Amino acid sequence: MLRLMRDPNLLPSEKQTLLSRIAGQAASMNMPCYLVGGFVRDLLLGRPVNDLDIIVEGDAIQLGHALVKKHGGKLTPHHKFHTAIWHMTPDTSALRTIDLITARTETYLRPGALPTVKPSTIEDDLHRRDFTINAMAIRMDGDHFGELLDPLNGQADLEKGVVRVLHPHSFIEDPTRIFRAVRYAERYSFILHPSSFILINPESLAILKSLSGERIRHEFDLIFSEERSFAMLLRLDELGVCKIFDPSLPKFDQKYSALLDSITPAELGISIDRVMLGYLLWLMDSPSHVIESLSGRLDFTSELTKALLAGVHLKNEMTSLKDAKPSTWTFRLEQVPLQAIYALWLVSGEPALKEFLTKWRHVKSHTTGDDLKARGLPPGPSYKEILNQLRAAWLDGEVHSIKDELQLLETLIVDS
Ligand code: ATP
Repeated sequence: MLRLMRDPNLLPSEKQTLLSRIAGQAASMNMPCYLVGGFVRDLLLGRPVNDLDIIVEGDAIQLGHALVKKHGGKLTPHHKFHTAIWHMTPDTSALRTIDLITARTETYLRPGALPTVKPSTIEDDLHRRDFTINAMAIRMDGDHFGELLDPLNGQADLEKGVVRVLHPHSFIEDPTRIFRAVRYAERYSFILHPSSFILINPESLAILKSLSGERIRHEFDLIFSEERSFAMLLRLDELGVCKIFDPSLPKFDQKYSALLDSITPAELGISIDRVMLGYLLWLMDSPSHVIESLSGRLDFTSELTKALLAGVHLKNEMTSLKDAKPSTWTFRLEQVPLQAIYALWLVSGEPALKEFLTKWRHVKSHTTGDDLKARGLPPGPSYKEILNQLRAAWLDGEVHSIKDELQLLETLIVDS
């Protein structure tokens, strides 16, 4: 364990320094201090660790204040949850913030509800967790540095490649763990232990169905952030999870799976995250009414709903736009969010979509509204018409120079 903790490929030295500062402070306050959860799991798997999940047996807020006093920065305490966020100064750590958490126990007042929490021991804290592989801790303070706490045999399950819940009510207490189980199983190519697998049954699925759209969408967001999103969605589908919310939720089309990993060419000048692209690829073949109902059920952001609906309408018009002039394409595409155009280009390969993204949308006439005003033209709707016609002429290759544009402008003014 000590060897792993000191391996800079798994734990960069700046994180090691930060941890030893926290551990040193905790030790001087006689406060047992642990790293838990994904940190321990990934370290034992020999994978670089991301989050530093720190738990103390004692008051995390008190520890936070002491760290700020000694190393600077600022503390945001959350007294209700006995947690604190330490906002560090750049010379304390390149990491901007770190969460300090008091070990706690949780009770679920009813299945699927959010738990109520109470300060407790590290043992209790590990017992409230989702899977054995996430229920280990490494002690950090003083002479205990590097000690592994593994009361639920998580290390053995890691070695066997097994995802296993801690007790038979786990998925009923919190059915979002079904999504989590699938994520870990697919991410690490593990299997869901048969004794846990049978707990994904009509009872736990019925509770899953009653969860808020926001909680479920968050789980799908996490899935789209993973490399093996497609395999995860497929697995959830096989388990009956997708259909439970809405039977109209389609299968993710396998042929779009590779598109999720495609790197957006810089020349397109748009940014789209994997999560939004995931939803667009997943749902753009669905009819509008299905998208509207899913958007309500899964509490999609208005940005996502707008992109999905605009994408679906555009997709239906693609055949009639096929041989349209660049200006017709451009004026139509300007009503569609760029992310939806990009997704549609990925699936259709339609060259006009790429032309629009890289070139057409940037084409403007040289003449402006101020120029029209200077020519004494009374302001009104004719301005937009004239400017659009000038722009269309550039797009469609009917003018090639400012001189051409000014000649065209003369005729348009006479006609207006
Ligand atoms: P990932 O690599 O997916 O981020 P992680 O283990 O860091 O994995 P988090 O979602 O950040 O995952 O959660 C941190 C820890 O909190 C988990 O390792 C687990 O011990 C615990 N945990 C998270 N969600 C739940 C849950 N729904 N029920 C019980 N324990 C949970």
